[in-house]
Amino acid sequence: MRGVKMTTDGIRLVAPSGDPVEGAVRVAVASSGICGSDLHMASMGPSWAILGHEFSGRLDDGTSVAVLPVVHCGTCDRCRAGAEQQCRNALGAMYGVSLDGGLADAAWVDPVCAIPLPAGLDVDHANLVEPIAVALHGINRAGVVDGMRVAVLGAGPIGLCTIAAARHLGAEVDLEGHRPTRTAAGVRLGASPSVGADYDVVVDAAGTQSSLDRATELVRPGGTVCILGTYWSPVALGLEFQMKELTLLPSFTYGHHHGVQEFAEAARILQAVPDLPDVLLTHHFGLDEAAEAFRVAADRDEDPIKVVVHP
Ligand SMILES: [Zn+2]
Ligand SMILES: [Zn+2]
Repeated sequence: MRGVKMTTDGIRLVAPSGDPVEGAVRVAVASSGICGSDLHMASMGPSWAILGHEFSGRLDDGTSVAVLPVVHCGTCDRCRAGAEQQCRNALGAMYGVSLDGGLADAAWVDPVCAIPLPAGLDVDHANLVEPIAVALHGINRAGVVDGMRVAVLGAGPIGLCTIAAARHLGAEVDLEGHRPTRTAAGVRLGASPSVGADYDVVVDAAGTQSSLDRATELVRPGGTVCILGTYWSPVALGLEFQMKELTLLPSFTYGHHHGVQEFAEAARILQAVPDLPDVLLTHHFGLDEAAEAFRVAADRDEDPIKVVVHP
């Protein structure tokens, strides 16, 4: 068994023990996406676990699954309320971060994290279930429903997944992106390529001070700004935010919405929007090309949307 780690010599394929983990099931990995957070973590130095938190594969009995990468306790008050993304005991227990992840031939995961795919969904595309679940949780938190007007700022993978999920819920979606190729991708997923004003919900999928300021400008008074981008540095709120009495909704991973597990719902959205893999999965590599896969994922000139590794 082989897996990808950041080492002092850069991204390398290493051979972890591969020993069975007690109580875990083995997932033979089919697809594993590289996320912006992987690039960020890799830039901070060597990783202690095998990377990769967006992955899918097959169990030993042949069942196709997407792996829910966050391990929750299942017993604390927040887990019991269906808000397991707020689990009091899960901090850091994540495949690809603190536990060996899916940029590998195989991974050992907790059985509750192996989410069966809907019949007919291609396991080679199911690395997309995780980022779709992130997007779905954000718009569920923001109360997006049929007929609402939504603007999405930022056309990276999360912004594009947000378009697909919000369209799936029946919202009208406008996209503000800064690269023609990305705007075209958003249009294929059902967004209009220009923004107006007075949105019920603006999703900041860019994660910068300027995108937050822009969201504040575009949202209607009393509206909602949903944070799906990651603010790696602190941001500030201005007077306009207060005077419009906006609601600021940070969103982190996924849980349950009206009793429905968002991760499983994300797999159904992937199945319902057949253009998603074609639009998002722009670059494919083998596991032994991992260093090149990371290089491309970080290279603006290559214009990757989602780089995916297939062991
Ligand atoms: Zn991710
Ligand atoms: Zn918990």
